[in-house]
Amino acid sequence: MQNIAIKTTPNDNVAIVANPAGLKRGAIVLDGVVLEEDIPMGHKVALKSFDEGDEVIRYGQIIGYANRFIEKGSWINESNISLPQPPKLEDINYIQLSFEEKIELELEQYTFQGYRNPDGSVGTKNILGITTSVQCVAGITNFIENKIRKELIPLYPNVDDVVAFNHSYGCGIAIDAPAAIIPIRTIKHIAQNPNFGGEIMIIGLGCEKLRPERLLPDDDGLRLHSAHGTDTERSRSILYLQDESFEGFYEMVDGIMEMAEKHLQKLNQRKREICSVADLVVGMQCGGSDAFSGLTGNPVAGFAADLIVKGGGTVFFSEVTEVRDAVHLLVPRCENAEVAQKLKDEMAWYDNYLSQGQADRSANTTPGNKGGGLSNIVEKALGSVVKSGTSTIVDVVSPGEKLRKKGLNFVATPASDFACGTLQLAAGMNMHVFITGRGTPYGLNMVPVIKVSSNSKLANRWHDLIDFDAGPVAFGQKTIEEMGWELFHLILEIASGNKKVATDKLGLYNDLVLFNPGPLT
Ligand code: CA
Repeated sequence: MQNIAIKTTPNDNVAIVANPAGLKRGAIVLDGVVLEEDIPMGHKVALKSFDEGDEVIRYGQIIGYANRFIEKGSWINESNISLPQPPKLEDINYIQLSFEEKIELELEQYTFQGYRNPDGSVGTKNILGITTSVQCVAGITNFIENKIRKELIPLYPNVDDVVAFNHSYGCGIAIDAPAAIIPIRTIKHIAQNPNFGGEIMIIGLGCEKLRPERLLPDDDGLRLHSAHGTDTERSRSILYLQDESFEGFYEMVDGIMEMAEKHLQKLNQRKREICSVADLVVGMQCGGSDAFSGLTGNPVAGFAADLIVKGGGTVFFSEVTEVRDAVHLLVPRCENAEVAQKLKDEMAWYDNYLSQGQADRSANTTPGNKGGGLSNIVEKALGSVVKSGTSTIVDVVSPGEKLRKKGLNFVATPASDFACGTLQLAAGMNMHVFITGRGTPYGLNMVPVIKVSSNSKLANRWHDLIDFDAGPVAFGQKTIEEMGWELFHLILEIASGNKKVATDKLGLYNDLVLFNPGPLT
């Protein structure tokens, strides 16, 4: 194999070593640069000599400053560059760009087989979701989930599975603290995820601070609270373990099973039908990123994102600490000044949240990211936002809120994989695309998670855990456009249930993690 080092823009003064075994001292790369030392795969080689204070440029942006003299051909990593300041939010002004005439693609022909819901949303799976209002009930809901899976699911062939959403919230919380709205609306909106078909089933204890009624959809909640709200409607959706009619554990179990059957009967009537690309709601996330993520996986995901948005569908990206350092590139892509302001407000909220915890955005990069060649959060962010593609950002959604608009959205979440995935479920995704370079078995049981690897070394080693290898882009074997179309087709196949993602085949699922910035009591 020849020596390969990749520059992302012509202005870059560093390049990424792409050879799976890395390159040895003396190897010659781009324009005759001779390596001064061994450099591992994914790491940066200096394409010029740097004096202390010189700008280090990747993606055409400053990712750091040399903190000492660095000789041309040397290895550049977190030890010899310093972190730049994040872009000042108050200095980023929104200027309406004149959008180029959009190329109209014939994307209406692309369809998938989904479950259409009464509220207009579309599911990619047919799942009985059991929501809980408090952690106290988790032992029983786990017991029940197993029992339903074993005894009831086989009787309802159109239902894929049952999933109990257990969490640590509900009691021992400052429920009136302003920040409590985030975990509360997250739980509430997850119950409304398109894959649950609007069949809301909530198990509560009875004495918790988070009243199960608060978790009902707004219209139902109002109806149930009004004079016309019937006990039947309420009992169809909510069950309290402390209900005095239950004598002991097994009567509670019977009560829940009876309730579950009513919902399963309805879910079993759901049938897949032809849906359009416009019905896709794809949540994009990275985890265990490396220096290839921004070269291969994220640009390929970004291309697929553009196709979905052009077809009238919805895509969102998230992870505030991974866009903070690239926000100056995103503000100009907002649809109007109001959206731009919302984006900056979410960044400011998170800056404040981190500073209250005496941390800053540099806390984001992990040892794994650094091992994969990402020297700092600036480099990570510049590669991360590429997965948003090039579409206009039509709305910004706060943590735990539901999407309001079709098109490309920014859904504000922490970058932590599980907290982000949980909030993305609440936003309403019916498909998850997860890009990784270092590798993670991450999976969610509520929506299919397509795992995209940024390099073929990982895809080959984890052949049964990775669904899509974007690695060939690094070596010019395939273009970003070709692979973007391939990913787009894979999304439609999986949304239709024709193919299963690796984590669904293997049954590998993570716990959901609620983002609770509020105090416990
Ligand atoms: Ca993440």
